[in-house]
Amino acid sequence: MELVQIKNNTYYFDNPSIIGLYRLNEKEVMLIDTGLNDDGAKKVLKIIKENNWEVKAVVNTHSHADHCGGNSLIQKRTDAFFYSSRIEKSYIETTSTEPHYLFGSYPPKVLRAKFLQAKSSNIDMVIDGDELNIEGNQFQIVDLKGHSPEQIGIITPDDVFFVADSVIESKIIEKYKFIYNYSLKELFNSLDKIKEIKTEHYVLSHGGVKKSIVEDIDNNFKALELLNEFILNHLEKPDNKNNIHKAMIKEYGLIENIPNYYLNDSLLSSHLGYLIEEGVVEFEVIDGEVIYNK
Ligand SMILES: [Zn+2]
Repeated sequence: MELVQIKNNTYYFDNPSIIGLYRLNEKEVMLIDTGLNDDGAKKVLKIIKENNWEVKAVVNTHSHADHCGGNSLIQKRTDAFFYSSRIEKSYIETTSTEPHYLFGSYPPKVLRAKFLQAKSSNIDMVIDGDELNIEGNQFQIVDLKGHSPEQIGIITPDDVFFVADSVIESKIIEKYKFIYNYSLKELFNSLDKIKEIKTEHYVLSHGGVKKSIVEDIDNNFKALELLNEFILNHLEKPDNKNNIHKAMIKEYGLIENIPNYYLNDSLLSSHLGYLIEEGVVEFEVIDGEVIYNK
C-alpha cells in the first residue's frame, strides 16, 4: 500500500477501496474511510507512524464493509474520533444489519463473511448539515444517498471531492455490469448533484483520482437506465422477481455465487421499487407469489 499526495494536505492510500487522508496540522491527520479489514488498517497505521503523524479523526462515507472494515482496529489502537451520518452510524455500529437485510432474516454464515459484514465499531459523532470543522479545517459534506441509505461525500479545503461509491468508474461498470444501489431515485439525485459541483479533483473509492467526472457520471446513468429498460421489456408479460433475476443474469452473461446473488437481488429490488414508485410497474400477490406487472 502506498500513500499518494493529491494536492497540498490531501492524500490517499491506494487500497482496493481508497482510503483518504487529510493533514489537519503538523502532527494530526484525518482518515476518510478505513478499508476492508484489520490487515489494511495495520498498513495504514504503519505509514502514519513512519511519518510521525497521529490519527485525530476518521470520517466514514458509508457503512459498507470495504469502507468501515478497518474502523475496529484503528479504534483500538488510536484515540481517533469517529464521524458518520446518522443512518450509517447505526449500520457501522451493528454491522450484522447489512447481511440481515440482504437475506431478509438471520443470515447463514456465507452471508456474514468479511465482504458483507465488517467488525462493528463505535461512531462518536453524527454529522448533521453540510459542514464539518475539525481542528480548524473546514470540510464540506455532500449528501450522497442512494448507493447506501445515507452515504456522504467530503470536499477537503484543497478542493478535492471524495465521492465515495456514488460514481463507479466506467471500466468497472464494463466488468461488473451492475451498479449496486439501495435507492435508485436517491442515486439519480446524487449523480445530478455531483455533476453540478465543480472541484479540482474527484476521488472515486473504486476508480481513483480524476480531474473530470462527467463521462463516468453519464456512464453510471446509462447503466442504471439500461437495467430499468431491461426490466420493463421483460415485464411485457407479468412475472415474479425470481424470473426477472434469472433473465437479468442471462442477459448480462453473469455467474453468481451466494453473496453475489443476494447483492444482485437487492439491487434488482431497488430498481423494482423505483419503477413502482414512479408508477410504471405494479405489484400484487397472486397465489403466494408477488407478480410484477407493467
Ligand atoms: Zn459501498
